[in-house]
Amino acid sequence: MSILIKGGHVIDPANKIDAVMDILIEGNKISKIAKDIQIKAETIIDAKNKIVAPGLIDMHVHLREPGREDKETVATATVAAAKGGVTTVLAMPNTQPAMDCIESIELLQKIIKKDAKINVLICGTITKGRLGKELSDINALKKADAYAISDDGCSVDSDELMSEAFKNAKQSGLLTICHSEDKTLSGKGVINLGFNSTRLGLRGISNESEYKRIKRDIELAEKNGAAVHIAHVSCQESVEAIAKAKKKGIKVTCETAPHYFALTEDALLGYDTNMKMNPPLRSKEDLLAIKQGLKDGTIDVIASDHAPHTENEKDIEFERAEFGVVGLETELSVAITELLEKKVLTWPELIEKFCLNPAEILGLDTGRLTKDAPADVIIISDQQSWVVDKKGLVSKSKNCAFLGYSLKGMIDYTICNGKVVYQR
Ligand SMILES: [Zn+2]
Ligand SMILES: [Zn+2]
Repeated sequence: MSILIKGGHVIDPANKIDAVMDILIEGNKISKIAKDIQIKAETIIDAKNKIVAPGLIDMHVHLREPGREDKETVATATVAAAKGGVTTVLAMPNTQPAMDCIESIELLQKIIKKDAKINVLICGTITKGRLGKELSDINALKKADAYAISDDGCSVDSDELMSEAFKNAKQSGLLTICHSEDKTLSGKGVINLGFNSTRLGLRGISNESEYKRIKRDIELAEKNGAAVHIAHVSCQESVEAIAKAKKKGIKVTCETAPHYFALTEDALLGYDTNMKMNPPLRSKEDLLAIKQGLKDGTIDVIASDHAPHTENEKDIEFERAEFGVVGLETELSVAITELLEKKVLTWPELIEKFCLNPAEILGLDTGRLTKDAPADVIIISDQQSWVVDKKGLVSKSKNCAFLGYSLKGMIDYTICNGKVVYQR
């Protein structure tokens, strides 16, 4: 099987390519990148006036399987991912059962082998059952091929236990991903603490509940010489704390999600539960700080935090509705619309956040268009606009924050391991 992608504008920050080139794929590998390749391939794709880039690596995705197949499955999520140009996801471990032991991981690996359309990597838990009481056998998770550990959805409250987790993670060579939230501060809050929470009569979640816990997580990681990745950074003080730690040489990386640079708490004025996520949409100042953090390199990665929920869990009173939004199908387009069009990032910088940086953080050989690397390639019509519509979403759940929004950039092809897994 060979595919020749002709005449596209290839963007690959890993190899400093930002030019019109051809790409030849043979089997599951990239075999050549050059100007005007003359060869008889089985499939020829004309990519003239289109962007060609590595497939996206989304390191924060909730697949919901096993346990909540009514929300999403490996099959439906990976179809949605392919449609969004994502060729690798890191699956968060808050499934039922949680990914806290070899048996659970093996169960999910079997489902992935059977149903996944793209690469699915598994994140194990920090603590058993994500209860924050007893550490998982982190070495065993590593042996079972987990790529990181996280109790996402929860933060480990005990400093002692978290310190021990970093120590074990370092010994096993695993990355720790922190959902940094001090529950004693965020409590029963449902939206950002501020003028809007008072006006709407809803309980607020302070910036402090996030940045205070981020500072603690960084401090414990540093003490143990371990790497730490901070999930879903949403506010100004968090960006500042991470910038400061990076300057000190601490091994910290972080991600934000598209809703934090595209939307503010004002989107909540109509009590739309599709705008309810944790951390919550913040203020205009926070949004600007997130954009600045992306621009200056403090924020390494853009990830969706794809969190599908059924209509029964979202179309109810605001306070009772679940936290979280789907994002696999819209993340690249939101980034093109908000970051490229508004000149916050250039194409190579954007591809770094979606491809190269997550690859380096997770130690993957994808996220780049290098000869002999796995052929994960996407072709994008970057000038094509579309309106996000519930019916058009292929994810099993439709709790999208961007319904009705006009976005720029559509995926034409997603190629994963040398196979076309999506074609518009
Ligand atoms: Zn989280
Ligand atoms: Zn999450």
